[in-house]
Amino acid sequence: MTDKANEAYETLLEFLYMVPVALLQVNDKGAIDMLNPMAAQLLMPLAPDGRMDNLFAVLEPLAPELAATVHDFAPPSGVVCESVRIDIGHVRPEHHGPQVLSASILKLDAQRFMVVLADATRDAEREQQTLLRELNDAARIDGLTRMPNRSAVRETLQRMIDQAPPEARDFAVLFINCDRFKQVNDSFGNATGDHILRTIAERLRQSLRRADLIGSSQSAPQMAARFSGDEFVVILDGPQHGEHAASVARRTLAALELPYRVDGHEIVCNFSIGIVVPDASRADADMLLQDASIAMAEAKRAGGSRHALFDPAMRERAQKRGGMEAELRQALLNRHLHVVYQPIVGLQQEEGRRPAAGAEALVRWHHPLKGSIPPPEFIGIAEECGLIGILGEFVLESACADFMDWKRRLGPDAPALLAVNLSRAQLTDAGLVQRVQQILHSTGMAPDALQLEITESLAAQDDIVQQRLRDLKALGIKLALDDFGTGYSSLSCLHMLPVDTVKIDRSFVCQADISPHHRVLIEATVRVAHSLNMNTVAEGVETPAQAAVIRELHCDKGQGYLYSRPLGKDQFQAWIAERLRLAA
Ligand code: C2E
Ligand code: MG
Ligand code: MG
Repeated sequence: MTDKANEAYETLLEFLYMVPVALLQVNDKGAIDMLNPMAAQLLMPLAPDGRMDNLFAVLEPLAPELAATVHDFAPPSGVVCESVRIDIGHVRPEHHGPQVLSASILKLDAQRFMVVLADATRDAEREQQTLLRELNDAARIDGLTRMPNRSAVRETLQRMIDQAPPEARDFAVLFINCDRFKQVNDSFGNATGDHILRTIAERLRQSLRRADLIGSSQSAPQMAARFSGDEFVVILDGPQHGEHAASVARRTLAALELPYRVDGHEIVCNFSIGIVVPDASRADADMLLQDASIAMAEAKRAGGSRHALFDPAMRERAQKRGGMEAELRQALLNRHLHVVYQPIVGLQQEEGRRPAAGAEALVRWHHPLKGSIPPPEFIGIAEECGLIGILGEFVLESACADFMDWKRRLGPDAPALLAVNLSRAQLTDAGLVQRVQQILHSTGMAPDALQLEITESLAAQDDIVQQRLRDLKALGIKLALDDFGTGYSSLSCLHMLPVDTVKIDRSFVCQADISPHHRVLIEATVRVAHSLNMNTVAEGVETPAQAAVIRELHCDKGQGYLYSRPLGKDQFQAWIAERLRLAA
C-alpha cells in the first residue's frame, strides 16, 4: 500500500471506529484485529468469559457456520459480501440484549475481513409477523379455488351479526350445492371435478364483480366462498328481503348452469340454492349456515336446479328426517326391512299361461312403534344419507333368493320374471354393475330373468346414466321404464332409451275406462312401445273395467290390486296355488 493509501485506510478505520455501527476487523481465523465500541457492546454479553480476542470463538455456540462462511469466500481477488443471521434468543433464552444479530462480512483481502454487526431483532419480528399473517390467510383461503373458505365465511358472518343490532341485520346467505357432483367425479375423474369447481368459483367471482360494477345497493354480494366440497356460500349485503336474495339466486343459477367444457366433454351441472335471511332469533353464524343448508336440501329434494327460501318448518322437517335416518340405519342392522312381491299377470293369450308372469319386489319397513312405513317415505332419506346402496343390495339379494326358491318349489308355475326397483342414487354409483353381477352369481339367478325398473325422469338423464344402463344391459339384464307418463320424456324419446318394458303409470290406468283422453294415451304408448319391440305393463289396475280396457288396447301385462296386493314370500306362493286351483 502506498503512503497515501495507508493514510486513507487509517482515516477510514478511525471513521469507522466513531460511527454508530458495530464494526470489527478479523483475520481468516477469526482473530479480532479491531473492534469499535458498539461492536464491543453487542459482543461483550455473548463472550463466555469476557474474552473477545476471537470472533469465531465468541459466536461459536450461536453461529457455528460463521467460520465456514468466511472460509468459503472465493480466493483472493475481488470483494465478497455475505450476511449471516445469528439467533441468540434461540440458544440463550436468558439473554436480555438483542435477540437476533446480523453479521455482514466484507472480504478485504485474503486475510482480512470487515464484519458489521447489527441488531436484527426488529426485522426478525417483522418477518415472523408477515409469516404468521400469511399462514393465517392460508387458513382462510381454499387451496383449490383461491376463494375464502369455511372459516372465513363463519368469521365474516359472525362479524356481520355482532356489528348490527338484531332489527338492523340487513343481509342474506345463499348456500349453493351442485346436485350431482359426486357423479361427475366418479364418471370423469377428480381432475375434471376440480376443473369444474374452479370454474364455479370463477363464475361466482364474476357475479360479485358484476354486482360491484352495477353498484346495486339492494343486493350487493359481499363475499363468495367455497364452504366445502361442492358447497359454496354467497353472502349478500344490503336490504335483503327475500325477493332480492331470490333474484340473485336465480341469476346465480343461470350463470352456474351454463355447460362446463372440460377436455372435449360438455358437462351440464344443476345446482340447488338455499337462502336464509337473518332474524333476531339467530345470533350465531353456524345456525344461520345450517338453516341455509337445510333450505338448500329442500330445494334439492324438490328436484334441484332451483332455490328455496328457509322457513322454520323446514328445520322441523330436517330434524324429523335426521331422526328417521338414525332409525333407518338401525332397521337395516336389525333386519326390520323386508321385501314383498306383487304379481304381474299376463293379459294376452300367449302371456296368460303362468299364474303370474312376473313379480315386482317392493321393500317394506316395519317400524317397531310406527308400524309399516311405505317406501316413498324412506327411499329418499336412504338416498340422501348414503344408505340406498346397502338397502338396494338387501332388496336385490333377498328378491333373487326368494325368486330362486319359488323356481325350485313351483317349477313351471313360478313367475318367469323378477322386477326390482332401482333408485336414482343407485344408478349414479360406479360400483352398481359389479354388485348386481355378484348377486346374480351368488344366488344363481339367470340375468334375463331379472328386470330392473328405473323411473322415467331418471332414464332421460345424461350420458352417465345412459352408460350405466348400457352396462347393466350388457350383463343380460332386462330394463323397464317405471311410472311412464309422469316424467319429462315423451313417446318420441322412447326409442333413445335402452329399455325392454314400459310400465304405464297408475294415474293413466285408473282413468282408462272413464276418460277417452287417457285411453288414447295408453293406446299410443302401447303402439309406440310395440313398434320398438318393447312390451307394456299397466300399473295400478284396480277394477275389472280397467282390466278390460287395457287388454283391449293390447297391453301385455297388468299389475294392481285387482290381481293382488303386494304379498310376503309365502303368501305369494299361496296366491299362485290359489290361481292354479281356480284355473283348473
Ligand atoms: P312402483 O315401482 O311404481 O311400485 C308400484 C307401487 O304401486 C307400489 O307401492 C304398489 O304397492 C302400488 N300399487 C300396486 N298396485 C296398486 C293399485 O292397484 N292401486 C294403488 N293405489 N297402488 C298400487 P309401494 O310399494 O308403496 O312403492 C312405491 C314406490 O316406491 C315404488 O313404485 C317404487 O318406486 C318405490 N320402491 C318400492 N320398493 C323399492 C325398492 O326396493 N327400491 C327402490 N329404489 N324403490 C322402491
Ligand atoms: Mg316399480
Ligand atoms: Mg310404478
